[in-house]
Amino acid sequence: MKRVKNSHTDSRTSNVIKHRPPVVENEIAEIHNHKWYHQKRWTTIRLIQLSKQPLCQRCLSYDEVKPALHVDHVMPHAGDAKLFFNTSNLQSLCHSCHSFKTKAEQRGEYLDFR
Ligand SMILES: [Zn+2]
Repeated sequence: MKRVKNSHTDSRTSNVIKHRPPVVENEIAEIHNHKWYHQKRWTTIRLIQLSKQPLCQRCLSYDEVKPALHVDHVMPHAGDAKLFFNTSNLQSLCHSCHSFKTKAEQRGEYLDFR
């Protein structure tokens, strides 16, 4: 396994989707506290995603092995139930990569590390 230093400073291996307006900061908190995150349907989807892909998919693109703690929506659901529960819109990320991705969303960039 190769370890790359400072691997979290660029996004060279991700696909950047740029066709939606940036997500503003207070919108992000709202999105991450949505009631759907507390539903059994979501907790089941989340566990299935983490069992299928237990490693951070962004770290893996840098040959780093790190457990994933977050199940991220590649395209933010923005209150859209279809997008929220769509299992093909999910990627597993570690905490720092999830923060990195969230910051990119504020610039209108939606990073896909799958
Ligand atoms: Zn990561």
